[in-house]
Amino acid sequence: MGQSVIVMGMVLSAMPVNEYDKRITILTKERGKITAFARGARRPGSQFMAATDPFAFGEFELFEGKSSYNLMKATIQNYFRELAMDYDRVTLGFYFAEFAGYFCQENNDEKEMLKLLYQSLRALTNDHIPGELVRAVFELRAIAIQGQGPNVFSCMNCGAKENLCFFSAKRGGLLCRDCAAGLSDPGMQILDSTRYTLQFILATPIAKLYSFTVSDEVLKELQAIMRQYLGFYVHHEFKSLKVSVENDL
Ligand SMILES: [Zn+2]
Repeated sequence: MGQSVIVMGMVLSAMPVNEYDKRITILTKERGKITAFARGARRPGSQFMAATDPFAFGEFELFEGKSSYNLMKATIQNYFRELAMDYDRVTLGFYFAEFAGYFCQENNDEKEMLKLLYQSLRALTNDHIPGELVRAVFELRAIAIQGQGPNVFSCMNCGAKENLCFFSAKRGGLLCRDCAAGLSDPGMQILDSTRYTLQFILATPIAKLYSFTVSDEVLKELQAIMRQYLGFYVHHEFKSLKVSVENDL
């Protein structure tokens, strides 16, 4: 027997099905990542039309059937419509949603990821924060939420907390100057401000995560670190990024 449930969450993706319907994936506070069927959502004038678009955040009332959820009602608080004005930023938004969808599961506690996704989309709507910085912050914090983040507080080799000036993706974190000197492949040398930024991103409450900016040098190092790190630990090609790369050519 079915019953109705109310969840708080964000639409990650929407797929057209049948002539007028949509199948949507929602990242929820209560039930992790779920899939719901939105009947008539593509019919002109449907109350579900905008509410089932990616990034729509709010309350969803669902009827829980045997094998799937059906959308009954949606009360949206934020559509993040501003994002649609900027191609690069909306592409990053799709990438964040895809990234969250890739890692999150049904009936799992995904509150932190939902919070991170929401704050990261808000940061994308702020022109004063470079999109590439938002991307690096999101990636680092998201991978840490998944329990696969790098150790940036002590040397991976000796545990020292001082002179941490090398980042080794292979070793999963920072190395001190002495240990790095003895290795043939110590990874990449980084600035003190880059190390401090890595620590800030991993230790600050999500609500305050986007309260800083960095120099171009630090941003370049952060981007290189995340490229290497995700290349090493995430064996998945994200479609939303592939589209944007192709469009750049
Ligand atoms: Zn060391």
